[in-house]
Amino acid sequence: MTEKIYTPDVVIVGGGVAGLTVALNLAPRKVCVITKSSLGVNTSSSWSQAGIAASIDKDDSNQQHLDDTLKTAKGLADEAVVKKIVSESANVIKDLENIGVKFDKNPDGSFNLGLEGAHSHKRIVGSKGDSSGIEIMRGLINEVEKSEHITVLENVSIDSIMHEENTIYGVIGRFTDNNIPNNHVVIQSSHIVLATGGLGGIFANTTNPRSSYGEGIALAAQVGATLSDMEFVQFHPTGLDFGLDPTPLATEAIRGAGAHLVNQNNERFMLGVHPEVELAPRDIIAQNIFQQLDQGNSVFLDCRNTIGGNFETRFPQVHSYCVRAEINPEKDLMPIIPVAHYHIGGVKTDLTGRTSVEGLWCCGEVAATGVHGANRLASNSLLEALVFGKIVAQEINKQPFKQQSDVVSSSFIKTYKEKTRSKIRARKFIWQLRSTMMRNLGIVRNQTSIFKGLTEIIRIERESRGLSAKLNDMILVSKFIIVGAMKRAESRGCHLRFDYPNEDSNFLKHIDQSQETLERDLELILSEKELPIEKSIAN
Ligand SMILES: Cc1cc2nc3c(=O)[nH]c(=O)nc-3n(C[C@H](O)[C@H](O)[C@H](O)COP(=O)(O)OP(=O)(O)OC[C@H]3O[C@@H](n4cnc5c(N)ncnc54)[C@H](O)[C@@H]3O)c2cc1C
Repeated sequence: MTEKIYTPDVVIVGGGVAGLTVALNLAPRKVCVITKSSLGVNTSSSWSQAGIAASIDKDDSNQQHLDDTLKTAKGLADEAVVKKIVSESANVIKDLENIGVKFDKNPDGSFNLGLEGAHSHKRIVGSKGDSSGIEIMRGLINEVEKSEHITVLENVSIDSIMHEENTIYGVIGRFTDNNIPNNHVVIQSSHIVLATGGLGGIFANTTNPRSSYGEGIALAAQVGATLSDMEFVQFHPTGLDFGLDPTPLATEAIRGAGAHLVNQNNERFMLGVHPEVELAPRDIIAQNIFQQLDQGNSVFLDCRNTIGGNFETRFPQVHSYCVRAEINPEKDLMPIIPVAHYHIGGVKTDLTGRTSVEGLWCCGEVAATGVHGANRLASNSLLEALVFGKIVAQEINKQPFKQQSDVVSSSFIKTYKEKTRSKIRARKFIWQLRSTMMRNLGIVRNQTSIFKGLTEIIRIERESRGLSAKLNDMILVSKFIIVGAMKRAESRGCHLRFDYPNEDSNFLKHIDQSQETLERDLELILSEKELPIEKSIAN
């Protein structure tokens, strides 16, 4: 095998908001940032619309932001972590402005703050209406390009974390362009940061880039890391049902600006359901839209009399999607569907971004810091990624750095075999998996659907064995979600079970998993399928 070898102090897998923030804050340490596409491309970060939640208005407070987050999280948020991100929100905005990020302002120079569901106050700091991610990433990328301590490896996909007997010493992957000679890349370092984003791509309907399918979770699980809260997948109520994959998002800020949700009979079906009506928490909105669709109704976002002629200037990105679908938001209803949007769970970390594996750090959407509990408050995720990106860098800087000559690697490299890929044959199975997950582990689940989901995934695994690395990772990650969903025999936040419709105080805890527990749990599920097995296997 021929390969290129890099030896930075720290390797960061992921070039979204989380990865770039870690990289910038590690100066002058030598850092290598790896992205599967060109820098900024195919990241949820660049696709973010509304912006960053920050309690910076004079009538707002960190306490109110904390209260809203805890309330939305349904008892499962880690208060210390929430306090940390909320108290840093003003600094995060200041830091971004200092590197040239331009946020929307009022004529008097104050921030033009947006409102989103379950926020008691206008506190979303955004840019060009719904183009916040593009602007934030522009600022970060500009800064990265000026930073001599950062090397960016673009179009490189990491396949494995190199490890030997509980010691990790780098990552190994390949250029995604197969025409590049010396295709393999080895990056040796005793500090690895995973900032690989979410997993929406394992569901048939998602707002995430299709390349976001939980690869970081699979990488971490394969070296023994503990995962947490895998069952909590947040569905966004308003994906634009234009028949596209991924599904374009209609940001919640549109409802914050007054848009209504209606069915084909022009009924505002959220009236009387929740006092906040269209600005109720996401899980409640998504569940009600699901019920409408289940009853055979169609669901629409109605901006005609509420936003009207201002739509294009206020929401240019969504407007451009509508134009392409030949929909005029001033005059037409916008068809919507709920879509997999954000993964609350992931690789379990402590307050410093440290995982259960020595030398492995995580931040951004791949991490389960405990901040979102059972339901994420809108626009808290960019805030979390930015705050934890900085924290992880500060913590790594406190660690001893091994001399590169001390970092062993040869035996792993010798035994490393490129993962099998057969894109075309795998495509059919990938689509089957995504449909299975959407149908059975989607917005609403029950024991029968979860079990059905598992048997389908096992069939896909059996029939496709070894066909594609991507598919194998998707299968592994799906299994973790299935086990978490089966174990959590209650409804809480974005995990909704028809068979257990209420919260149950026995489940006021995180469900942790690992590669080690997975096979045992799956066996139990398969053997006890007739029983109310959730109680018997809940840890
Ligand atoms: C359409 C949309 C709108 C959103 N709007 C908002 C919003 O307004 N406010 C908010 O707070 N949140 C929003 N979110 C959520 C938020 O954008 C994400 O949670 C956040 O951007 C995640 O950042 P990240 O850096 O963790 O991951 P990402 O930005 O997704 O970056 C992941 C990186 O990891 C790389 N990667 C992954 N696997 C590998 C591998 N094996 N090898 C090499 N590289 C790899 C990718 O190439 C990419 O560079 C939105 C999400 C979407 C999809």
